[in-house]
Amino acid sequence: MHSSGRHFLQIPGPTNVPERVLRAIDSATIDHRGPSFRDLGNEVLANLKRVFQTDAPVVIFPASGTGAWEAALVNTLSAGDRVLMCETGHFATLWRHLAEKFGLEVEFIAGDWRHGADPQAVEARLVEDRNGDIKAVCVVHNETSTGVTSRIAEIRAAIDSARHAALFLVDTISSLGSIDYRHDDWGVDVTVAGSQKGLMLPPGLSFNAISDKARSAAVRATLPRSYWDWADMLAVNRNGYFPYTPATNLLYGLREALSMLLEEGMDRVFARHARLAEASRCAVRAWGLEILCRDPREYSDSLTAVLMPEGHDADSFRATVLDRFNMSLGSGLGQLAGKVFRIGHLGDFNELMLAGTLSGVEMGLELSEVPYNRGGVQAALLQLSTDRRRDAAAASAA
Ligand SMILES: *Cc1c(COP(=O)(O)O)cnc(C)c1O
Repeated sequence: MHSSGRHFLQIPGPTNVPERVLRAIDSATIDHRGPSFRDLGNEVLANLKRVFQTDAPVVIFPASGTGAWEAALVNTLSAGDRVLMCETGHFATLWRHLAEKFGLEVEFIAGDWRHGADPQAVEARLVEDRNGDIKAVCVVHNETSTGVTSRIAEIRAAIDSARHAALFLVDTISSLGSIDYRHDDWGVDVTVAGSQKGLMLPPGLSFNAISDKARSAAVRATLPRSYWDWADMLAVNRNGYFPYTPATNLLYGLREALSMLLEEGMDRVFARHARLAEASRCAVRAWGLEILCRDPREYSDSLTAVLMPEGHDADSFRATVLDRFNMSLGSGLGQLAGKVFRIGHLGDFNELMLAGTLSGVEMGLELSEVPYNRGGVQAALLQLSTDRRRDAAAASAA
């Protein structure tokens, strides 16, 4: 049955694809070995570096984010290698399982799914590893199942202070283009990303940014790889081309999405996400509900995971919101199934879209007879207007 008005896709990815990107994708597919493809290839490969904040090469695979996880591991490691991973939530757990399927020896630093990776725990484990058996440290920057970020710069500092040579692999699938992230400054060796979250594209592209150290490791790494081999990719990328048929129409979309991010300016993109995230948290607090993330330093600006009061099922609440208000909210994943709902506030998103989103949540709480306090939307609107007034005052003072 037709529902009038726009569907609110407020899961933390895939996100709303803006009209400009949809229009860009809707163009004739061209010869990917012909001369006009080269400009497209060169432009997206160059602009991607600005979004990853790196001078290193970034490669693009036609795959979901999971493919880029696999590429990061198979290019840098060998069977039996020990890797240190941190249990931040469902996505960190899936990455671990992927590593184990390749015969890697995973040490998983336990976590409570309410905190980011602990830099001190990483440092302590690396200091113990006197023989350098640990070949890589893998961390999820923004754990999409919990709305908790890990402090990547602090984890880099922990690796350095342990004087350990392990590679540093970071998943930014739900943070890139939403939360400040610096591949070069933070000394990351492989950054993993995907198209359908902060980059505002449909699913189907994934990325690895690759440091010099990671490229050297790839020469020695012996895990089998063919489709994911960086060497083949980097060799032809140099001229703007790809070793096999690329997802040309998604690359049209990527070109447009990168232009949009760079037109707005990355600093303003990050500030917008921070503003919308803080307003979301104001609403949750006013409702008297609990934010899953325990440490304010680790709040995610991409999404907020909200704990459902005891005895109330998050999935039946979400079903009510979808049925009555045509809005999709994120479900609880893994051990959080039924216990949390997640509000995505990343990608092509602004104040009035957030106001609509939070209104749908508040009406859903009312209809589902969840115990809550009214006034969450009001609290968020006040926060957003206060932000704007402060910005205007700062601008006129400058
Ligand atoms: C979405 C997501 C993934 C999985 O990506 P797919 O595109 O579904 O393969 C992995 N890690 C994080 C942090 C994510 O948000």
